Amino acid sequence: MTQAPKLRNDCFALPAGVHWTPVEDALALLEARLQTVVDIEDSAVDASDGRILAKAVMARRSHPPYANSAVDGYALFGGLAQGAHCFELRDGRAAAGEAFAGSVAPGQALRILTGAALPEGADTVVLQEDVFVEGSKLYVNGPLKQGANARSSGEDVEQGAVLFSAGHVIQPQDIGVLVSVGVVQVKVFKTLRVALISTGAELCAPGIDSRLDQIFDANRPMLRAVLQRWGMQVVDMGIVPDDASLVRQALDEAAEQADVILTSGGASAGDEDHMSSILSEKGNMALWRIAVKPGRPLALGMWRGVPVFGLPGNPVAAFVCTLVFARPALMQLSGSSFTGPQALNLPAAFAKNKKAGRREYLRARLRNGSVEAFASEGSGRVSGLSWANGLVELPDAAIQVTTGQLIRFIPYSSFGL
Ligand code: AMP
Ligand code: MG
Repeated sequence: MTQAPKLRNDCFALPAGVHWTPVEDALALLEARLQTVVDIEDSAVDASDGRILAKAVMARRSHPPYANSAVDGYALFGGLAQGAHCFELRDGRAAAGEAFAGSVAPGQALRILTGAALPEGADTVVLQEDVFVEGSKLYVNGPLKQGANARSSGEDVEQGAVLFSAGHVIQPQDIGVLVSVGVVQVKVFKTLRVALISTGAELCAPGIDSRLDQIFDANRPMLRAVLQRWGMQVVDMGIVPDDASLVRQALDEAAEQADVILTSGGASAGDEDHMSSILSEKGNMALWRIAVKPGRPLALGMWRGVPVFGLPGNPVAAFVCTLVFARPALMQLSGSSFTGPQALNLPAAFAKNKKAGRREYLRARLRNGSVEAFASEGSGRVSGLSWANGLVELPDAAIQVTTGQLIRFIPYSSFGL
């Protein structure tokens, strides 16, 4: 087993004098500083959905493995010129899984069914609907191209061809392809273990008899579900009140059990923002003030060799920052590549005047081909996350969005949700 290399302790340090980091720069910094932190293991192909390949995979055999018929009909040799043709029908047939032992000479034809190996001597198949059979004679009208209705060996995939490279996230359809070319086992990265911590004195576990001055901890269950969709293993560390020693203790425990730590709350520079102050006291933390709405402060640090992403506590900001920043970073730590989501350029069904200075993500939904924005931009309005089925990404620069103008819409599905 290989040992994944360690991240540098100062990997989140920001260039001096930087105040507001543009989203693009923040993403580029994360990409440059993070690398795979998980080891490699074997996985059976049929249990590999969502796993990340640690080694490129080659076809063990060609697909199709032998030349065969694409239709039910008659196998013969060569193409047919325009006009009437007559062939001598051979006894017997070729069916899928039941190859014909003999060969087909020029002027002869053989009954063949879909998927059957082409008999020796044949390279073309006439559709059964296009022939007339009388006794041992087969009549057919040309033209017909040589090789018609036949699939040649390896026409889809050649033996030895590289199908997927390392870092590829295996999808259900890939499992079908891998099995087709005889691959039964693949090298994959071990599942990334992500510790989740919610911080805040006002937080209480969902479902308990809460006081009115308490807030149900929405971030942990929400982020747990997000991480599970991404195929990651969640280590749930619970709620930690705003108490420096308890936060330190939770980080210690999380660092023992996980490859990366995701916290929410307390990431700003306020009196009770222990996450950022604790991470800074270790000297390996950087408060990234990212020019983004919603979000802004993202506390990034190393705790006992484990990277920590300190997300804002506000659930809307925590969700958006997880999708925009944590997702590519976690994918890179998992052994995949640092890739942003695919966006669609679609007409806006709203108007908005946006000032320059920071990138904005609006809760938005695609309806009848255009994109509606959630009525309130207040990031406390968590219900907007469910109203939406994606995010609109507005550029860092000023922009005046008018109805019908093409804007960038990123469906939640592009974020792997
Ligand atoms: P903070 O980032 O700790 O200043 O929190 C910002 C806002 O988000 C506050 O109103 C918090 O009560 C709220 N908040 C923080 N963490 C959570 C959470 N886990 N679930 C729901 N709301 C939260
Ligand atoms: Mg707080």
